[in-house]
Amino acid sequence: MLKRIELCFNHQRFVHKIKAVDFVSGMNLVLGPNGSGKSSLLRAIHSCPDCIRIEDKSTKYHYFNGELMNPHRKNAKGNSLLRCRAMFASHGESMRDVLAFIPLSHGDTLLLDEPESGQDMEWMLRIAKGFREVSRLKCQLIVATHHPVFMGKSHVIEFQRGYRKKLNRIYQDILAKNVKY
Ligand SMILES: [Zn+2]
Repeated sequence: MLKRIELCFNHQRFVHKIKAVDFVSGMNLVLGPNGSGKSSLLRAIHSCPDCIRIEDKSTKYHYFNGELMNPHRKNAKGNSLLRCRAMFASHGESMRDVLAFIPLSHGDTLLLDEPESGQDMEWMLRIAKGFREVSRLKCQLIVATHHPVFMGKSHVIEFQRGYRKKLNRIYQDILAKNVKY
């Protein structure tokens, strides 16, 4: 698993001048407003040759991005079975296929960028449950998200101080207001 990443100079500029980020085993959540560098952090972990990854042992990284790996896109990466299915499936169904095809092993790290994208509430809950099961299999998850469904008791990395509380407050306000209608 990944214990720490020390960001190269280039990535420090994209990730709000943060020099290093520490991670725990199991579920890690990366929270912050759009443009705060969450996706840049995931890409740095996945593939930057200049960032320094400190691991407990050699770690395999799997990167899932709701937009770039969308099988509906013309230039989508991934196998042809998924692209064929995508012609007959909704966005959310296709994304679940992509998640199901990631070949995870013990000790791997799964990087997920906004897995809530295109999913309805019931499926988000199922995906959140799936993440808990994956973390019990001794896999590490690093998830960039805006959605409270994934928040639970996870280790939180905030790119804006107090962002988790702020998100919870916003969602509570919305629900309270909707009840009044
Ligand atoms: Zn880098």
